[in-house]
Amino acid sequence: MQSTSPLLSNYLGGQWQNGSGTGTALTDPVLGTELVRVDATGLDLVGGFDFARAQGGAALRALSYGQRAALLAAAVKVLQANRDAYYDIATANSGTVKTDSAVDIDGAIFTLSTYAKLGESLGDGHFMRDGEAARLGKDPLFASQHVFTPIRGLALFINAFNFPAWGLWEKAAPALLSGVPVVIKPATATAWLTQRMVQDVVQAGIFPPGALSVVCGSSAGLLDALQPMDMVSFTGSAETAAIIRSHPAVVQHSVRVNIEADSVNSALLLPDAAPGSEAFDLLVKEVAREMTVKSGQKCTAIRRVFVPEASYDAAAAAIAARLAKTTVGNPRNDSVRMGALVNRAQLNSVREGLAYLQTQTEVLFDGAQLTLVDADPALACCVGPTLLGTRQPDAADRAHDTEVFGPVATLMPYRDLPHALALVRRGQGSLVCSLFGADPATLASTALELADSHGRVHIVSPDVAQLHTGHGNVMPQSLHGGPGRAGGGEELGGLRALNFYHRRSALQASTAVLAAL
Ligand code: NAP
Repeated sequence: MQSTSPLLSNYLGGQWQNGSGTGTALTDPVLGTELVRVDATGLDLVGGFDFARAQGGAALRALSYGQRAALLAAAVKVLQANRDAYYDIATANSGTVKTDSAVDIDGAIFTLSTYAKLGESLGDGHFMRDGEAARLGKDPLFASQHVFTPIRGLALFINAFNFPAWGLWEKAAPALLSGVPVVIKPATATAWLTQRMVQDVVQAGIFPPGALSVVCGSSAGLLDALQPMDMVSFTGSAETAAIIRSHPAVVQHSVRVNIEADSVNSALLLPDAAPGSEAFDLLVKEVAREMTVKSGQKCTAIRRVFVPEASYDAAAAAIAARLAKTTVGNPRNDSVRMGALVNRAQLNSVREGLAYLQTQTEVLFDGAQLTLVDADPALACCVGPTLLGTRQPDAADRAHDTEVFGPVATLMPYRDLPHALALVRRGQGSLVCSLFGADPATLASTALELADSHGRVHIVSPDVAQLHTGHGNVMPQSLHGGPGRAGGGEELGGLRALNFYHRRSALQASTAVLAAL
């Protein structure tokens, strides 16, 4: 049957362009209906990339940090004005309930506005100093000053399906603030929201032509069009990350690459936090929340939960009791708290992942027992939250190395703190680990023990019960990314994010020259 859904345009080379193919359809994961199509067939990627570098890059670099920050602030206003349309797209295309759409959409706007404010603080400069000048010999007249200058290439963003709004702006905000033009290739499944946001900002005429481009559809040819001064920032699975890292254009041109990949994150209840303690309750609440927000489709979601052996049964019962209250189904129904997975492929992948983990675990709470609200089980890509568990965490290698990208977590007991630390580290490098306890000294020393294998350690003690920002929430002020299996990338972290888009160089000269910088 001929598809009649609208074809989304790509914005490249300073103009809107349609692909020449029939396109790939994006669907509603709850109703099964076709929404829009995307297609990038036949686009002149090399020409479009040249335009971005030559026109967009030059125009952005002519502005100061403060002026570019003002452009970000203007983009924030445009996004705020169109917020309702973004929520409608998220409901239809991602199948998310309002609070989950907010994590993506309002998270995006908040991140962009944070960089607008941070950029303001950089004022009218065109480069950044890195530390003080260092004398190079006995005579202090000849010295070395390190500087950061914006890179003259473009930033190609290849994004994952789960954050079409936040994933765009958390990368684009620091890049544009740095003076680097960006080309965004959203994941096909949810490209609509990304494309719509870019369209709104482009139509408002905020950024110079070539500063912001979007290519929706196949990734074919994108990496081939990269040049030595370009950079790629990728978010997605470890498999695709490996393809990008080893792509000939990346290898031959030393293209700078940032990878945000998957991660088997953990939550750890410290030995002092027995059932009935406030820290115990905080862990239970956070685990249930993390499993169900965005139906567990968050790279930062808790996948492994470690508790003292004596607390295993109580933790299993308490988390299960919370999960049992989850209403799953059509996000348009106000009683629903958890919507759908993004599509049938993800539903199948979650079911397969669950079966794989179940060979080494038992089911402590079975999400399949929940009845879907207002949704046809034969059609809707909805799945209830499932808590797995095993009393043999050392033998359960699958629980430590498998990311099931859905509402699934595995509970495991530990003997003592060194055992717990060893188990957490079996994630081989994660985005985030959260600690729950009441003793500041133990929390602090445990955090330092785990810091090297995590991008972020989120510490929840009773005094911050109402204040903490959530295990899985990525705040623009804090670093996002993790070592090892998590991809080895670094994003956000306030102004630290700008480093990726700048080249650090040492200027060696007379102090008179350095003073004239
Ligand atoms: P994915 O399948 O790896 O796809 C990610 C992106 O790569 C998509 O835009 C995809 O395009 C593109 N892509 C696929 N093959 C490619 C190739 N050969 N060359 C260049 N690009 C290619 O991942 P996903 O399923 O969208 O996302 C889920 C995964 O992302 C999960 O594992 C999750 O943990 C991870 N994730 C990590 C973070 C983080 O910050 N660390 C955040 C969110 C998600 P198409 O869609 O067109 O195939």
